[in-house]
Amino acid sequence: MPDFELDLFVIGGGSGGVRAARMAAQRGARVALAESGPMGGTCVNVGCIPKKLYSYGAHYAEAFAESRGYGWQLPATPTLDWAVLKARRAQEIARLNGIYEGLMTSAKVRRLHGRARLVDAHTVEVAADGGGRARHTARHVLIATGGTPVVPPVPGSELAVTSNDMFDLPAFPRRLVVVGGGYIGCEMASIFHGLGAEVTLVYRGGQILRGFDDEVRAFAAEEMRKAGIALRLNTDVARIEAAGQARRVHLKDGGVAEADVVLYATGRRPNTDGLGLDTVGVKQSKDGAIEVSEHFATSVPGVYALGDVVGRLELTPVALAEAMALVDHLFGPAPGQPARTMDYAGIPTAVFTHPPIGTVGLSEEAARERYGAIRVFRGDFKPLKHTLSGSGERTLVKLVVDAASDRVVGLHMVGADAGEIVQGFAVALKCGATKAQFDATVGIHPTSAEEFVTLREVTRH
Ligand code: NDP
Repeated sequence: MPDFELDLFVIGGGSGGVRAARMAAQRGARVALAESGPMGGTCVNVGCIPKKLYSYGAHYAEAFAESRGYGWQLPATPTLDWAVLKARRAQEIARLNGIYEGLMTSAKVRRLHGRARLVDAHTVEVAADGGGRARHTARHVLIATGGTPVVPPVPGSELAVTSNDMFDLPAFPRRLVVVGGGYIGCEMASIFHGLGAEVTLVYRGGQILRGFDDEVRAFAAEEMRKAGIALRLNTDVARIEAAGQARRVHLKDGGVAEADVVLYATGRRPNTDGLGLDTVGVKQSKDGAIEVSEHFATSVPGVYALGDVVGRLELTPVALAEAMALVDHLFGPAPGQPARTMDYAGIPTAVFTHPPIGTVGLSEEAARERYGAIRVFRGDFKPLKHTLSGSGERTLVKLVVDAASDRVVGLHMVGADAGEIVQGFAVALKCGATKAQFDATVGIHPTSAEEFVTLREVTRH
């Protein structure tokens, strides 16, 4: 066996790369990690974390308004100081960047600041941020470089921004046009609406959030509309033009929307530019994702990839789980523990719209296709909080049950804290819980979550 300088070289300091580097080092492997940007990747810097912080910030708008129904007298209508929110966010993200750096140091991972490129299957060249190049050899190389937003070539699209830019916009956009009806488009629309912007969301399809349960999609869209977001469905952007500092968005249906900022949230592509994949022969799919086996091996022995760059499920907890499965595969499991493998079934997810969506398992449509005979239980209601708050927001809870086995195969919620609530139920679904076991579970009163264990009447077969 050739003598390599390292056991593992990780390219990319995001969720997947950091977890793999740290766990491998804890198993005694000699590990280096190269990252040219701040540590933490998309999630920490321009994704999950700042998004959730801004979502919390945006929810205060409702809280202020709703508090009046509970007798609170507000001295004046509260207004947002955008500069303060940005600065507070930046401070917290810098703290997290530091924690990630610290994780590398305490795990004894060699941290390299620069852009890495594969020279061959076991050699990585790092162009250091401060200049200079150095080559390192490693028994295994892991590519965990994540993804980046894509903007389709629409005339004037250079006038648009992406989610990367939204957290640090110099001025708060009084009017925002969001293009795309996926996770990012819907979340950003809700968040910036809550923070005080007038928001128009443009989506080319008939309903937002393709792939989610149809009833959930319709319910979430209705709640967004009720909150005051303009949804322009079944149309797309024809062109964008500058009108002084503003943007004029011409739609294919003839409509025109004026905005201070146009956000394109039309998907992401894997970050593979400049990695030397062609030179080394790492195979990519048509959309640029690195093709990997069940153990995250690429087409080149010794080279592995995981997280958004393999384009399976672009979620931080998925990258973390993939990283742990890979480390167990390459370096053995932790003492006394079984080797972990990656199971993509039953992964829960939340969309932080206002109200948020939480979902695990199959949509009604997918379950019907897979199982044929299903039973659907659903309820929508005004949460107790809103009996006094004055808000018209409603909550949806829904169970999809395989009729033959009685197993709950899909669980969906649109309503406050849906992400928090669905996480717990995801464990039940992972354990194969049946509807009878849901029925035998005593609720916690008064909560919205208890509705999941009190749904008695079949809504549809
Ligand atoms: P999504 O794939 O979720 O959504 C992209 C949206 O843009 C869809 O509505 C899509 O329409 C539309 N679109 C795609 N191409 C075009 C085009 N050329 N012109 C017009 N519209 C277009 O991507 P996002 O960028 O929103 O998010 C990327 C991923 O990041 C998500 O899939 C998710 O995995 C992850 N993420 C997770 C979050 C969470 O867990 N809360 C939050 C944010 C992101 P159509 O449906 O018709 O294809």
